[in-house]
Amino acid sequence: MKKKKKEMIITCAFPYSNGFIHIGHLLEHIQADIWVRFNKLIGNKVYFICSDDTHGTAIMLKAIIKKTIPKNIIFEMYKSHIIEFKKFNIEYDKYYFTHNKENKILTNLLFDRLKHNGYIKKKICKQLYDIKKKIFLPDRFIKGKCPKCYAYNQYGDNCEICGAFYKSTELIKPKSTITGLKPIIKKTTHYFLKLFLFKKKINNWLNLKVIQNNVLNKVLEWFKKEIKAWNISRNNPYFGFKIPGENKKYFYVWFDALIGYIGTFKILCNYNKKINFDNFWYKKTKIELYHFIGKDIIYFHSLFWPSILEGSNLRKPTKLFVHGHITINNNKISKSKKTYININYYFKKKNSDFLRYYYASKLSNSIKDIEFNIKNFIEIINNDIINKLANLISRNSSFINNYYYNKLSNTLKYSKIYQIFINESKNISNLYINMKFDIIINIIMKLVDLANFYINIKKPWYLFKKKLYNNKLQMICTIGINLFKILITYLKPILPIFTFKSEFLLNTKLTWIGIKKPLLGNKIKKFKKFFHRIKLNEIL
Ligand SMILES: [Zn+2]
Repeated sequence: MKKKKKEMIITCAFPYSNGFIHIGHLLEHIQADIWVRFNKLIGNKVYFICSDDTHGTAIMLKAIIKKTIPKNIIFEMYKSHIIEFKKFNIEYDKYYFTHNKENKILTNLLFDRLKHNGYIKKKICKQLYDIKKKIFLPDRFIKGKCPKCYAYNQYGDNCEICGAFYKSTELIKPKSTITGLKPIIKKTTHYFLKLFLFKKKINNWLNLKVIQNNVLNKVLEWFKKEIKAWNISRNNPYFGFKIPGENKKYFYVWFDALIGYIGTFKILCNYNKKINFDNFWYKKTKIELYHFIGKDIIYFHSLFWPSILEGSNLRKPTKLFVHGHITINNNKISKSKKTYININYYFKKKNSDFLRYYYASKLSNSIKDIEFNIKNFIEIINNDIINKLANLISRNSSFINNYYYNKLSNTLKYSKIYQIFINESKNISNLYINMKFDIIINIIMKLVDLANFYINIKKPWYLFKKKLYNNKLQMICTIGINLFKILITYLKPILPIFTFKSEFLLNTKLTWIGIKKPLLGNKIKKFKKFFHRIKLNEIL
């Protein structure tokens, strides 16, 4: 029986408009893009969306420093992000930014629903106030000593040294970064989402296998503690959406960024009138929703986001895929600047398949950090892609090009090995679905070794020298080329450039259903070298 095709929305977490895309961000976008491409390959209907996260004080601060307005900064960054993702063949159906009209309408709508359903409360809080400027100070406009580890020069929300989160009023010896004055404590009202009311529903949802097991345990730990109401408003000055009916209050950036998932999808629907927006978000919809996120923002996606959706009477995510971070020489990316600048520079010029392949070879469904090691990178690419895969196609196609007028043989005799390769398709398909890309690469490398071994023992060059068995030589190379075809179909979601070159050479489009159909009697194109080996001095 034919399986019913699925329909799904897939997202990455929104990169902040404050900086350029680097290889750390790319891990998530590559992981998601591979998964998207695989789902498309097996015939599922996928909408892959993402946006720049544009609001908050960091953008406002940057605009002040650069003597411009936030809109200019976010637009410049948006243009650069789009170019970066294209370079790595991350194929979004829509990439946008959260500062847009649709998102504003939706943020207001969901806020209204939450309020109407009794999930929002107003509360008086104490906040730091700059008497000279006459403004409440956002967290990023205050610096002082961390109340936990006493590190100097920390912002009003969290400490970059010990990682502690605290209220700005807890900061020791706070100073306004605008006037340098000591702020006073003044009362103000804020809007809070009553998260504790969702505890039971979110717990039930989490138990539907929406998150990896090791992550689930961590989230359930949080749930054992008291869940506080979440402050979703910020005072002027702020860059974001104004709260309706308020003159000097804005929605907190995380509130409209999460709703931005819906907002970005709405933008996609505006461009593509065939998609019916309403089918995707009502509570009992069968359409699936997947979020790829880093382990640093689990809290926002396993608690805040499903609560917003639940309280607005909308559907919740089908699954969250959580991943670890990239480290270089065991440091976080921000701490190993020079190496990381070199690596980024390298990838901006070079073949993006290499980074995609390297990440795939390391990606499992765990949340462990992934070490980017340059020597290991070069070794893997040269060995797997150049020595094994490219070699398999180059040695076989050259005979077909030079002595058989580019034509493959009409039959596949003695092709037990072909059956072995086809038989892996079910297994590889399951591994893709379960995000175990590292195991897929392992299997494919074993298969390519087997293919090269097969050619080695059949010795086509020997048959050629002896001017014997002309049809046999053609058939051996045809088998070699067909084995290659299967392997590249398996790798198609990971290697778009390699696939493109292979499809051109083989004169056919590689499809998942086509795995079982060998290329026979077809004419192929003239083989040209796919890639060059990487040398260490190209990178460092
Ligand atoms: Zn600290």
